[in-house]
This record gives sequence, C-alpha cells and structure tokens, in this order.
Amino acid sequence: MLACCCACATPPESPALAEGRYITILDATDQAEAARVCAGTLPRHERFVDKLFAFLGEAPPEGFAVTVYLVTPGEKDARCGATPSACYDAERDAIYVDAEHFDALPHELVHAAQQHLGLQSSAMLNEGLATYLGSAPIPPPELEQDPCDMFGRSRDELDYGSAAYFTGFLFAEFGVERVRALLTAIDGDAAAPARAAFLEQLGESAESLCARYEPGAYACVEPLFYCDDAEATPLPDDGLTVTRALSCEDADVSGLAQAVQWTRAVTLNAGAHEFSGERTTRLLACGQCPDRPPVQLEIAADSEPTLELPAGVYAWIWTAALETPQDPTTASIQRADPAP
Ligand SMILES: [Zn+2]
Repeated sequence: MLACCCACATPPESPALAEGRYITILDATDQAEAARVCAGTLPRHERFVDKLFAFLGEAPPEGFAVTVYLVTPGEKDARCGATPSACYDAERDAIYVDAEHFDALPHELVHAAQQHLGLQSSAMLNEGLATYLGSAPIPPPELEQDPCDMFGRSRDELDYGSAAYFTGFLFAEFGVERVRALLTAIDGDAAAPARAAFLEQLGESAESLCARYEPGAYACVEPLFYCDDAEATPLPDDGLTVTRALSCEDADVSGLAQAVQWTRAVTLNAGAHEFSGERTTRLLACGQCPDRPPVQLEIAADSEPTLELPAGVYAWIWTAALETPQDPTTASIQRADPAP
C-alpha cells in the first residue's frame, strides 16, 4: 500500500542491517531476533529494482535510494494502518514493514518506483501495478471484484488481486508506454476523471474494456521478484534434485531468518512432471499474459504429485524458518515421460 502524509516522527537512529545501491534496511525494532537479514536479501531486492525499472522502460533514476525500516507490528500499524502488511511513505522515501510481512517489500518498492517516475495514480491502478509486478501470483478463485466496480474505490475497499489481474490485462492489450500514460493521466480516486482518462489514453471506454476483460484469459501476473528468465536453466534430462540445508549466510537465501526463501528458476518443456520432496515447495509459472495459465502450486512435503505443465519458465521456491539449524533436505523435479 501507499501511505501518505503520516504525521509520525522519524524512527530514532536505527542500526543498518544491510546497505546497498538502492536500498538501506534499518532495524527500528529493538528486537535482536527480528534483525537477521539473510545474505541473499539485499542482492535479490536490488536486482528486482533493476528488473522493475527495465520493465517500465527506464533505468533507475539517479538518486533512487529507499530506506526500509524494519519496525514492530505496533509501529507498522501506527504508520500504515492495521490492514496492509507494509507501506511506502513518499514524503520520506521510506518503507515501513514488520518482520512477519517482510515479503511485502517488492510490492512497496514498486510504489517507490512509481513515485520516482511520476506514476502515482488511482488506488486501483497503484495497487494493481504494485501487486502485478511485486507480489506472488494470486490464483483466480480469489478474484472478487469486477474491474468497472473498482473505479473510484479507495485502497481499503479494493481487492488487490482483481486490480492486479486487470492491470495485467492492460499491459497485455496496450503495452507499457500507454499504460504509463494512463497512470500519469489519472490522479486520485475519483471515478469520472479516471473513466475519461481511459477513453483518452487507451482509445476505448472503460465499459468496453471491462466487458471485454476475461480474468480467465489473462489469468497470470508478472511476478518479477520471483521469476528471472535470465537465470533460468533448462531441466536436465535426468531431472533436478536439490539437497541442502538452508542457511541465512547462504547467498541464495533471501528474507529474514524467521521466514526465508530459496528460489531456482527452471525452464520446463511441456508435459508431465513428477515432484517429490521432504519439504513443502511452491511452483510459480513465470511469463507474460495471456500465454500462460495460472499456476501457483503448492507441493506438500512427502507427497509425490505428477503435474501436467505447459512449457515455460517456473520459479521453484523453498521456504523455511531458520531460527533453528536446518538438517539437509531433498526435493526433486523429474520428467514423468522422459525423451527416449
Ligand atoms: Zn500497495
């Protein structure tokens, strides 16, 4: 979410947990256990900033530098309100997030990029954009709102997933440049000017767009943080088996020690694949609408599902709490019908 005009004081001098080119993470919790930022966190989020600006068609502007305050849940509520998991304060160029919602950071970095590019718009498009680019895919069953019902809604009345899918539809139909023009043309949540801007910038009325919009046909989002085509490697003929104990010192591990992620981007051919593992993993389909079906699969620990998947890049994600040392665990992906 995007915060505005918070009257709160700047947090007291906070020790830096991580300091990079675009992002500085400060501990404002006074709770030592909240303060373990794992080794891969900063590089992964900084790479995300580069990917984000590349998607929007520009290099990060000179001086793009966001301060991330890791705060207590009470402080997060005071600054952001109780509903959102985190917020971006444009005036201070700062993000406030508590440990439990640290994975909201990419979403808030999208808001920071919007601010720096002059792309602040209505709540529907602000949250649609940030969710589309910065959050993990939300499966269609959670979609609730008709896009034309979202015009004029405030952030608190908005279904972020529905807004993200509609934003994905706009990118697929009109391209980045025209969606940027639309965002620039809309200022605030009033419905009538927003509808006029749709007609003016996209050459089509909002009613016509909403009538044409089929969530099922565009049922994917662009999770830039999780998907990295450049890093994707093809699934080897004999499959991919990974055995490791996740560690906060591991450069592939991102997040706070309480909830880390280890991600591998892998290219799969179309067909049936067998999964197995001693830990629960997730599989996200990467790629742009409308070619990709919605896939965000959870593969339960000690289950061995066979899944029919379309060809494409997938992000294979392990999550863990590293507060206690990990024993090595194994998980694997194999072709169910390997080529002869
Ligand atoms: Zn947001």
